[in-house]
Amino acid sequence: MSCFCPEIWPEDPTPKIQKDCKECGLYDQGSRMIWGEGTPRAPIMIVLDNPGARENREGSPFVCGTRQTLQKAVFETGLKKEQIYVTYILKRKPIRAYEKDRTRAICMRHLENQLEVQKPSLILCLGNVAVQSFFRNQELDVKGLRGSWYEVGGYQTTVAYHPLAVRRRPNLYPLFLEDMQFVASELEAKM
Ligand code: SF4
Repeated sequence: MSCFCPEIWPEDPTPKIQKDCKECGLYDQGSRMIWGEGTPRAPIMIVLDNPGARENREGSPFVCGTRQTLQKAVFETGLKKEQIYVTYILKRKPIRAYEKDRTRAICMRHLENQLEVQKPSLILCLGNVAVQSFFRNQELDVKGLRGSWYEVGGYQTTVAYHPLAVRRRPNLYPLFLEDMQFVASELEAKM
């Protein structure tokens, strides 16, 4: 029986024409732009709030704890890494304070472009920031939405807790696994 080993999922390079994006001002904070990781045409797109410190350190071969939790749940539900692409609401990691709502609204244009190109079958938003930005509703949260499918901008979407929250509160892991299984079952039904 195979066992779980965390690994680096390949980074999807930022398209040349987007690389120097300065639209929202986060560019000035000096973090690099990260488009996503995993398999670009994968049927499942996972949306997180923003890249982590690991991704921001160019070329650093390190799978952070957040990624380990995500990859572990992927492994335990029988999904393959080739079925998953991970991206973000913000393509740069904020280093200092910033205008959150305005910045997210501006950077979401990149995600909208990605969706048009990649056309995932299913979208999984992780954590309240990703949920509220993607659903464009600040009143929503993971707790109230998890376990169901929603049509958001024409995409079949569901939600789960942020893997960082799951690491901090291990009692959330069974719920996280349940939500990942929910996605895996839907994908299987579509195949
Ligand atoms: S966060 Fe998004 S919109 Fe802002 S500079 Fe980076 S890529 Fe551009």
